Amino acid sequence: MRNSFPDEPDHRVAPAALLEVDDLCLDTPSRGPEEGPLVDHASFGVSAQEILGVVGEEGSGATELVSAIAGLAGPWEGRVRFDGLNVAGLTRKEIHAHRARIGLVTGNPASPKDMLPTSMPVLDIVTEPLRIQRACPRRERRNRARDTLDLVGIEETRAQVRSGDLIPLDRLRVALARAVVLRPRLLLIDHSVDPLEPRSRAIALGLVRRLGDELSMSCLLATTHPANALEISDRIMVMFGGRVVEVASREVMLENPCHPYSYELLAGVPLPSPSREARRQGLPVDGDASLRPEPPAVRETTQGCGYRHRCPRAQNRCALEVPALTDPGLGHEVACHFPETIERLPSPVGGQAG
Ligand code: SF4
Repeated sequence: MRNSFPDEPDHRVAPAALLEVDDLCLDTPSRGPEEGPLVDHASFGVSAQEILGVVGEEGSGATELVSAIAGLAGPWEGRVRFDGLNVAGLTRKEIHAHRARIGLVTGNPASPKDMLPTSMPVLDIVTEPLRIQRACPRRERRNRARDTLDLVGIEETRAQVRSGDLIPLDRLRVALARAVVLRPRLLLIDHSVDPLEPRSRAIALGLVRRLGDELSMSCLLATTHPANALEISDRIMVMFGGRVVEVASREVMLENPCHPYSYELLAGVPLPSPSREARRQGLPVDGDASLRPEPPAVRETTQGCGYRHRCPRAQNRCALEVPALTDPGLGHEVACHFPETIERLPSPVGGQAG
């Protein structure tokens, strides 16, 4: 197990990052050796007050990544450094303090029992982290919790409502209040915005953005819906099969994704420019299907590119070599042997990309 944290700089994380994750691997004994780790050599950073959207389908590894950063999953290999501290090297007491500086929202707000204790009044739910962390004098705790409920849009008159009686959006508001009542430096959201209906989802995403601004807080938003991440994130990280396959700014990812899986994910998100949209229709490049290997009986990611069984650009090399996450000079970090962008394609309608 490699949990030391030498001081050498790592080019794959943003400078002066609040969170630095380097070469993180997380696995469970129940998985066979042919399946590959749940999180496989993930490296990335989150800067102060940045929102990073982590996008991928079920099995992407985003949930496990969130758990590891929160100090809830393990053992893992690699490095997680938060606010200058090596998370793997923390004592039990330090982990207790670490959890106070990271807010976590998990569960499905549309399912009353999944997210919060249903029979507890919302004020008690939001007061609880203050009590556990002994964050302020006892007499001030309820006032701090009331202020935080107000911040997320739950009026004082509803402080005694039980969480099981709330609508999903308000249940998420309370979960957010509980997560930020200690004023953490980083908020982790594990797919909890996804189950909301579209209008509530838009409100919730706006609230997350506002909380980040008002509390000077960074956020990692894990989601299966790329539109959620594009709505509020500064940068987008795409994961597939436990691996980080592309990282780029929101604008670059939206207008010019590089990895074929990013294209697949973003295909349903319309581009503002019609000429760019027309170029995008030219990707992914339709490679030689005869070169694509047969899909395996189980997900197999230990050899070659884990996306190759779905990839229209797959070549023989893709079955032999795991593509490393590198910067090909396109404004992205991408893990693909044959990265391509809309910019590089000939326009199917002539002229330049708009
Ligand atoms: S490495 Fe090969 S299979 Fe994997 S995404 Fe790139 S082109 Fe597709």
